[in-house]
Amino acid sequence: MVLKETGSPAGDGCVFAGGARYNKTGDVLKTKYGTKVYKLALSSGATCPNRDGTCGTGGCIFCSSSGSGDFAQDGGGSITAAIDRAAASLSASKLKGFEKPLFIPYFQDFSATYAPLETQRAKFTEAINHPLAAELYVATRPDCLPDDVVDLLAELSRVKPVTVELGLQTCDDAVASFLNRGYPSRMFPEAVAKLKAAGLNTVGHMIAGLPCPPSYGPSDDGFPLRLESRDSILATADFITSSGADGIKIHLLHVLENTALAGMYKKGLFRTLSLEEYAGLVCDIIDILPEETVVHRITGDAPKSILISPLWSGDKKIVLNFIAREMARRGTVQGRLRSEKQ
Ligand code: SF4
Repeated sequence: MVLKETGSPAGDGCVFAGGARYNKTGDVLKTKYGTKVYKLALSSGATCPNRDGTCGTGGCIFCSSSGSGDFAQDGGGSITAAIDRAAASLSASKLKGFEKPLFIPYFQDFSATYAPLETQRAKFTEAINHPLAAELYVATRPDCLPDDVVDLLAELSRVKPVTVELGLQTCDDAVASFLNRGYPSRMFPEAVAKLKAAGLNTVGHMIAGLPCPPSYGPSDDGFPLRLESRDSILATADFITSSGADGIKIHLLHVLENTALAGMYKKGLFRTLSLEEYAGLVCDIIDILPEETVVHRITGDAPKSILISPLWSGDKKIVLNFIAREMARRGTVQGRLRSEKQ
């Protein structure tokens, strides 16, 4: 869904609903449901085939012990209770005039479609049937979508919309292999096609600032491992949108305690991005996205207790404000440079 308004206060042409320079998921949802819609991260109870030996062990080198779901709640055993608690915790000031919020139960940690089918059915059904649930989001890997799982998600999508988020991180298979991602990039568009054929929405997750394998040579600033180039990062954004995915999630590489990546970082093998570099890359990505692609995130959170680097990412508000200023300075608007890319 593209929501556009013509003429920004800055007088620099077309902007998206709410005055945004990109097609923000929050604005899309607010317009669709007429109220504030919050994503509520929940624990799936699943593990990951890249950890249990099915396709790998140890997991992706950046993945924390919580399976990249550091804010996911276990719901105290009850999804209903978790949604009720979240609704009760919202103050009137947060709701800004809206009487009743809605929620998107978001099964975020590990590979949410890798649990036994009946576990998935129980959790996802309880979540989607909650009266305050607007939609259902499930995060997983392209290699965790057997037919019975896709059939279950398709069945649930007849109750309310269902979105499946797929972790790609990069479309460069050599970098992905170095990350120990455990599946070839070609599986991503195959999974998107399968999900879309079943009537499900899809989102691709990418990370900027990934280190490359030693075969790519040292960095120009003296580190043994270079970071993925701007061109390679833009190629990943293009790969996600070209696959037909409805949305994109842009994330910064965080180095977290007790990960393989942390060991490499502490040995001085690579550096992390500066705020200026990251903001520039986000602008470059937004500029080339198709207008209709929904942007679900332009940065990520990491618990400060386990965040090693970059420490500037610990304050999300500062990061988002910095990116907004950089977008305004550059005149960034989603799709602005799309034609140059084609
Ligand atoms: S696929 Fe996801 S849960 Fe599994 S190791 Fe990688 S980041 Fe962690």
